Amino acid sequence: MPAPLAELARQARQQLALLDYPAHPWMPPAAEAVLDVAIIGGGQTGLATAFGLRRQKVDNIAVFDRAPPGGTGVWTTFARMRTLRTPKHVTGPDLGVPALTPRAFFTARDGAEAWESLRKIGREDWQRYLDWYAETLELPLRHGHELLAVDSIQGGRLLALRFRTPAGEQVQLARRMVLATGMDGSGAWQVPHPFGALPPGRVLHTAQAIDFAALAGRRLIVVGAGASAFDNLATALEAGAASATMLVRRPRMPRVNPFRWMEQAGYLAQYHALPDVLKWRFTRHIFELNQPPPQESWDRVASDPRFRLVMGAPIQGASMEASPEKGTDKGGEGEQVALDTPRGRFTADAVILGTGFTFDLGLRPELAAFAPEILLWKDAFTPPPGEESPLCGASPYLADDFSFREKTPGAAPLLRRIHCMTYAATLSMGLSGASISGMKYGVPRLVDGLCRALWLEDAEAHLDSLRRFDLAELTSTIPEELPEAAE
Ligand SMILES: Cc1cc2nc3c(=O)[nH]c(=O)nc-3n(C[C@H](O)[C@H](O)[C@H](O)COP(=O)(O)OP(=O)(O)OC[C@H]3O[C@@H](n4cnc5c(N)ncnc54)[C@H](O)[C@@H]3O)c2cc1C
Repeated sequence: MPAPLAELARQARQQLALLDYPAHPWMPPAAEAVLDVAIIGGGQTGLATAFGLRRQKVDNIAVFDRAPPGGTGVWTTFARMRTLRTPKHVTGPDLGVPALTPRAFFTARDGAEAWESLRKIGREDWQRYLDWYAETLELPLRHGHELLAVDSIQGGRLLALRFRTPAGEQVQLARRMVLATGMDGSGAWQVPHPFGALPPGRVLHTAQAIDFAALAGRRLIVVGAGASAFDNLATALEAGAASATMLVRRPRMPRVNPFRWMEQAGYLAQYHALPDVLKWRFTRHIFELNQPPPQESWDRVASDPRFRLVMGAPIQGASMEASPEKGTDKGGEGEQVALDTPRGRFTADAVILGTGFTFDLGLRPELAAFAPEILLWKDAFTPPPGEESPLCGASPYLADDFSFREKTPGAAPLLRRIHCMTYAATLSMGLSGASISGMKYGVPRLVDGLCRALWLEDAEAHLDSLRRFDLAELTSTIPEELPEAAE
């Protein structure tokens, strides 16, 4: 670790020592090889949750991620923007410890002037900050562990987590599990209906690994107008694509980013207390507004003559057809993609889908076995007429500790031991999982919920430990005292 960052790490540990109250351990000793909390996902949310639990003296925990070191999260995997979309001053993983803030990290590494002149944090730099954070806090991250399935044992008192690891399948027992599995952690990245019929090599999604060099000289269509659609289109043009046409369903480009409104203590700290109908109205509006491309993503492509934008062009059909450039089309093997829209037919050698994700718990292999038992908003709440929202309806109807609820009481008791900290928690709990902006309030609320669940479950044991507590604070010999029996 470079000296300035090692020094900052020392300061962070010192600040944690200054704040270390109450230091008294409270968790009962754990049974052999049983974790108190297993966290699935070693991205920012999983790491900050582990840090938060440690600060509450819940130490018997581990973070599991299927990715190898350097492959967790989105920042250095499939994100293709140059900088974060979030303003640089937004704090989150630090949980209030100054030396752990992004600002402290970049100031220590690059200097105060560099920080002042920095517009937004680079996405690879954000991952470097998270790597430093995990190393500084010595967080228990186990790479190469893919959660395959979850079962409950001992009458539902424990979870049996089955992992695929480089050493083969392993089972880890845990009292509670946190799903910190990201934007698509409660569903999947969306490949809308017409595209399923096209050859896989011709349809790419912004959330997959893409060989942009192989797209050089090719004609592309990008579907969608979100930030990722623009960032992938820009990356393809920068890699030498011949042309890129963006087809957008909406007639007008979204311009307002609701996240900037959400970055306030009112919404972030108190949303969770709203009545259901207001939660629905706030989040439905936020989901429908969606996020516009940041100005810098628009600027990356707007002046490029190879870029073409077509609004009001929902995809009505997708097929393969003979390419008029048969023989000259480098990789087309004589065929091209044809997309039909109200604005006409558009053809290309390949399509990149910037169509986001959907919530559908059954699509997650690790949840599939009990997904039908999970209570969803569409089961628990009926929106007023005209306020329907499939995305809201498919969101899990979480308890106040982020845990799943049963659709049929008693049918799947393990659910209350599974705490959902993905983007799908937004409707129930406000912005919390899978966003930097929601971490400051979301992670402590999750940690508090986990501690409350563990405390309540062990309440009798805690009462017993109180009753057995006999640490004398007054140790002097007092000759005036009468014999014990006299009491
Ligand atoms: C392209 C892109 C850009 C974004 N930009 C911003 C931004 O600028 N600002 C912002 O606030 N938010 C942004 N977000 C949203 C969000 O902050 C990020 O998605 C962020 O990565 C969320 O962190 P996370 O830890 O919740 O999930 P991730 O970082 O996605 O981490 C989840 C981890 O879970 C692991 N995992 C998943 N399933 C399993 C399994 N079954 N077993 C084991 N491990 C598993 C994955 O390997 C991954 O490492 C962006 C999202 C995307 C996709």
